[in-house]
Amino acid sequence: MALPIQILIALVLAAIAGTLSGTTGQVFGISALAVFDFIGTLFLNALKMIVIPLVVSAIILGVTNLGGQGGFGRMGLKTIGYYLTTGFIAVVIGLSLVNLIKPGISDAEPPQLEANAQIMMAVEGRGSGDLVEIFLRMVPDNIFAAAVEMQMLGLIFFSIVFGFFLSRISGPGRDTMQNFWQGLFDVMMLITQWVMKFAPYGVFGLVAAAVARTGFEQFGSLAWFFVTVVLALATHFLIVMPLILRFVGGVRSPWQHYRAMAPALLTAFSTSSSASTLPVTLANIEQRVGVSNRVSSFVLPLGATVNMDGTALFECVAVLFIAQLFGVELSFAQQVLVVVLALATSIGVAGIPSASLVAISVILLAVGLPLEALGLLLVVDRLLDMMRTSVNIFSDSVGAVVIANLEGEAVSYPISGN
Ligand code: ASP
Repeated sequence: MALPIQILIALVLAAIAGTLSGTTGQVFGISALAVFDFIGTLFLNALKMIVIPLVVSAIILGVTNLGGQGGFGRMGLKTIGYYLTTGFIAVVIGLSLVNLIKPGISDAEPPQLEANAQIMMAVEGRGSGDLVEIFLRMVPDNIFAAAVEMQMLGLIFFSIVFGFFLSRISGPGRDTMQNFWQGLFDVMMLITQWVMKFAPYGVFGLVAAAVARTGFEQFGSLAWFFVTVVLALATHFLIVMPLILRFVGGVRSPWQHYRAMAPALLTAFSTSSSASTLPVTLANIEQRVGVSNRVSSFVLPLGATVNMDGTALFECVAVLFIAQLFGVELSFAQQVLVVVLALATSIGVAGIPSASLVAISVILLAVGLPLEALGLLLVVDRLLDMMRTSVNIFSDSVGAVVIANLEGEAVSYPISGN
């Protein structure tokens, strides 16, 4: 049976198992939730263990190859152009729908806010100064510390610089280095394929645990907010992305692309982490979509951290929803500030679960809304995180096709391999 089908079955079984077990269910006297957590965490750890060597080797190789052919600046500009354009479109979709549906406006009294310890800890002391810090970390003072703390932006910066200057040296030193990084990259890709064999089990554990913890009933007053975010994400995912694939990516049948990226989409959905999904995204784009290593090894690792359309869109809808809820009329200038900050923070935040919440706190502070309102979003955040992460990595993959097309490469969709 094809892997995406296996993962889909695992998802359905996980939803049933998680609903049945809740937080208290037991199997043979052992907490079912603990079993789900164990299986899920094992899979997640296996994916995460691949990420650092994969990102570093992929970017160094990608940039060295580009630098050698003098194409680094050109492709870099196209890539950044794609990221900014799609991010902007996503934010505009979010902004339009939240203003149209007005999920936060009702006759009810504004909700009572409780300071939620978990949220307050995550966002304490985070003012707009934090935005500066996010970008300061881009140049890491210690690359090993950046790797240990999984600070992708810093690692990416170092790898780009390293790759660029590797392409400037010649002789045996260059060959040794290039062979080394190529070998490391190839091994990491094989490990990814091996880990993905366990994806159905891992996905089952991750999703069953999430369902058991959240349940489906608690949405209540947030139902309209939920619907707004889902509609906005769906518009970006099902209308904007295929149009870009068709008219900028040169893909005649965009549906092929969804089929080819299915394993990565389902992994993103289950892990809520673009960074953890990156190995699968890379494997899918090379083996099932057929984009060259030269393009994908540069565009995808960068995209997993920098290009987060779903996240930018979500931040925007969330902030405007909170403003509506508390009857705060945001001026046009303030709405523009929300858009700019949503784009900037979506670039800066890490590809990890619930990263948006920290970014939203930065925006709330900037426009003078109560931070505690973040606690309200927690109830629906997990499910929305699963969806926006899928949109995030999907946009990365579309970016790879677009850049490949602009670079004159033909994309073949062999859809073989895992
Ligand atoms: N979980 C998202 C990602 O990894 C980030 C976020 O929006 O929280 O892409």
